[in-house]
Amino acid sequence: MNNRIGIMGGTFDPIHYGHLVIANEVLFKFDLQKIIFVPTGNPPHKRSAALADAYHRYMMVQFATMTNPSFDVSNVEVEKDGISYTVDTIRELKNKYIDTKLYFITGTDAVLDLPNWKDPEEILNLCTFISVNRPGYVTDTLDDKLDKLMKKYKGEILSIRAPQLKISSTDIRNRIREGRPTKYLLPENVEQYILKNGLYR
Ligand code: ATP
Ligand code: MG
Repeated sequence: MNNRIGIMGGTFDPIHYGHLVIANEVLFKFDLQKIIFVPTGNPPHKRSAALADAYHRYMMVQFATMTNPSFDVSNVEVEKDGISYTVDTIRELKNKYIDTKLYFITGTDAVLDLPNWKDPEEILNLCTFISVNRPGYVTDTLDDKLDKLMKKYKGEILSIRAPQLKISSTDIRNRIREGRPTKYLLPENVEQYILKNGLYR
């Protein structure tokens, strides 16, 4: 298995530099061929006027990744009705990319939430997890916690450090709603897309 691809899942509501910097760091540190960004479909529980629909989130990820030839965007989840599960997406990508090692990239908060995902054992059987430190979530017991997850689900979770950006989509949405600045938190073309389409108001 000489091929190595990274998968970056997320709601991306909207995508910001915190997402882009960790994906790029993993691309470099693991010498991956590319990173595939997979925006989630519209989860029924997240349906609310304050959140952008899958089409807009997908478009924003396209705009944000446009200047990086090693970043791709997949529409597998946004094309599905309702919730899509990470385990199904990874299985699909595994069938598409034969003979390829898959790395699933997450921030600290997401990896620690793994027990709440559907079929964590199968997920870890299909790919290696890369846990990237996220400011505000790093705990001194992180390595212990990751060890426990690896034993429980019999898989591999690697931990790396990336430049720490304390940016979240939640904060960006709040800023837009309250008319506070979002410049330098996300790519300019994404900011313009949000403005043009009146998102998060
Ligand atoms: P929200 O506030 O809506 O939950 P978010 O900023 O957490 O948005 P998500 O789309 O939920 O973004 O996250 C997708 C993935 O990116 C998750 O694995 C998350 O841990 C990671 N991530 C998001 N922001 C950062 C950041 N600033 N640093 C490191 N990892 C991040
Ligand atoms: Mg989040």
